Amino acid sequence: MSQERRYSFEFFPTKTDAGHEKLLVVARQLAGYQPDFFSCTYGAGGSTRDRTLNTVLQLDGEVKVPTAPHLSCVGDSKAELRQLLSTYRENGIRRIVALRGDLPSGMGQAHGELRYANDLVEFIRQESGDHFHIEVAAYPEMHPQARNFEDDLQNFARKCRAGADSAITQYFFSADCYFYFVERAQKLGLDLPITPGIMPITNYSKLARFSDACGAEIPRWIRKQLEAYGDDIASIQAFGEEVVTRMCERLLDGGAPGLHFYTLNQAEPSLAIWNNLKLPR
Ligand code: FAD
Repeated sequence: MSQERRYSFEFFPTKTDAGHEKLLVVARQLAGYQPDFFSCTYGAGGSTRDRTLNTVLQLDGEVKVPTAPHLSCVGDSKAELRQLLSTYRENGIRRIVALRGDLPSGMGQAHGELRYANDLVEFIRQESGDHFHIEVAAYPEMHPQARNFEDDLQNFARKCRAGADSAITQYFFSADCYFYFVERAQKLGLDLPITPGIMPITNYSKLARFSDACGAEIPRWIRKQLEAYGDDIASIQAFGEEVVTRMCERLLDGGAPGLHFYTLNQAEPSLAIWNNLKLPR
């Protein structure tokens, strides 16, 4: 695994001007910690195409942190993807998070011309050669639609071999599943950095809902403790911060190549963990 650690913060594009202004304040605060990059999510089917593009260009150009757009292929045509890639290239964007994506409910099951993330990685390489550093998604606890772990691992290998440079994981709360996944990937000859995605715990009910949908397990001892706090947000956050900090310590001690924070457009929860870990500023 790479010795060079990299730290990054993920945002989502907001729907309102007020939300966007708030996002810029958060991004500027996080920029002070000199992360290696920011990333900005993309609504599958193109639902945030313009907002993602504008947010990426502003974070990259004005906040001055290299920013990676997420790009998902399900529901987008090759022409739409080609256009976005070319706009990003023209604006000096060098990193992309390449995903299949999930169509929002109500948009049906229609596939774009590219069906899986490995198709998108291949397409980006065909269109743009080595211009972009390509990140792909990894699922230490298995993608929710995967038939089984082995199948999912082979599919992960497929998109790595299609030309990915590194991977970011879905969030998890057990370091063991991450280490096992990395070990199994390495046994397949995949030596790309696999950075853990870190979800700070701030709100139990939202986290539980989201985790059910994306297949991330909240271990029983954490779930029970969070449930027991009820509406006591301060205790939920204090416990969550301690649990996630400890897990990050284990991850970094065990050789993880960095951390990618799912900020949910908030600075403090990620920074609390960052400061507890005494990460470089
Ligand atoms: P894939 O790698 O294509 O895998 C999807 C499923 O298909 C898996 O079950 C896999 O085993 C299977 N599979 C893969 N390739 C093949 C193949 N060739 N043949 C048969 N089966 C195959 N979603 C968004 O909509 N927007 C975002 O911005 C976004 N950002 C994300 C960032 C990160 C770091 C992560 C971890 C997830 C993100 N997601 C995002 C969620 C992601 O889009 C969903 O998890 C989606 O269901 C799968 O995308 P993928 O790129 O991992 O898909």
